[in-house]
Amino acid sequence: MPQPSGDPIPGPLACASGIHSLTTPIVQTATYTFRDTAELIAYQEGRFGSYEYGRYGNPTTRACEEKIRALEGAEDCLVSASGMNSATTMLLALVPAGGHIVTTTDCYRRTRQFIATLLPKMGIGATVIDPSDLGGLAAALDAHPVSLFFSESPTNPYLRCVDVPAIKALCAPRGAAVVIDSTIATPINQRALALGADLVLHSATKYLAGHNDVLAGALAGRGDLVAAVRAMHNVLGGVMDPHAAYLLLRGMKTLDLRVARANATAATLAARLEEHPRVARVHYPGLTSHPDHAIAAAQMDGFGGMVSFEVAGDLWATARFVDACRLPYIAPSMGGVESLIEQPTIVSYWDQGPEERARLGIRDSLVRFSCGVEAAEDIWADLAQALEAV
Ligand code: PLP
Repeated sequence: MPQPSGDPIPGPLACASGIHSLTTPIVQTATYTFRDTAELIAYQEGRFGSYEYGRYGNPTTRACEEKIRALEGAEDCLVSASGMNSATTMLLALVPAGGHIVTTTDCYRRTRQFIATLLPKMGIGATVIDPSDLGGLAAALDAHPVSLFFSESPTNPYLRCVDVPAIKALCAPRGAAVVIDSTIATPINQRALALGADLVLHSATKYLAGHNDVLAGALAGRGDLVAAVRAMHNVLGGVMDPHAAYLLLRGMKTLDLRVARANATAATLAARLEEHPRVARVHYPGLTSHPDHAIAAAQMDGFGGMVSFEVAGDLWATARFVDACRLPYIAPSMGGVESLIEQPTIVSYWDQGPEERARLGIRDSLVRFSCGVEAAEDIWADLAQALEAV
């Protein structure tokens, strides 16, 4: 069906009403009306720009799409109800039954779960490689009809980075699309499309919305790929609610400020944690000790607001440290104005048991810290006092 173009809030709302709202109005409707059949036919033929039904589009969500499209330098963007919805709809739309994908080891657990358990029902296989294993990617491209490569960069929770131009150079001759989940980087720190990705994905729940109050997903990039995903999205129906779209738009107004602050705080914390005797290891792409520091330095303008580190102690010593923190909230998620702390073993992998966690490389002493906008010195003072509890 025809997609709206031009002014994301069409004339009748913004102008004919005589109201020139500074903020984007929430168009809280499930459907759209037409004056007569001639207008409806004009809409169907693309001569009249409007919307038809809420599952196919909404002016407030379209305004989000236009903003993310511009931030990522994309041809088009599709927002949806959550990051997972963006990922699953994209995979269902772009990989044919019996197809194959390549993905990386250290990615969000639910994405890996979808790839490992649901895609096989359609005969879709996956090769899972270490983020730095370009040889593994080349071998998979030789061995299978690969539709796409999909990885986070940086990954969650070890903040590994993939070499996007090198991956593109391997994938493009085989017709395999490169899809990068840039949630942790944000479009402020990394423009994955300019690096060679065909699509960039965001859990907009995180930095884009930025206030820990809304779930949202976004996919931006090549117009033909976004159109294919949009057609699937119109069927599956994981639409973003107009009110969520408003919150996402409001959040994005301060994206640059929040990300700059989080970048600076994370860099300070990472450097100090690395020197601390009660910290065994810090995972932050801005540190020269990080295995992918050179890739991150080449690809990113800032190293992000997430710091993962391993406390020098066991599961329970680490839990004592987390419990002794007073400033961050203990919660999953990341990228909001409030600092959040979590022990991935307990928040995300508790049901998996020690053997499976060991197989996945999730260490019990690992802590994931999402820097909010609080003063860096306040956060550091809190972490330092809590480390005394280890
Ligand atoms: N991608 C990454 C890197 C994530 O961390 C998450 C969630 O934590 C997702 C995607 C899924 O996003 P959502 O929670 O908005 O569905």
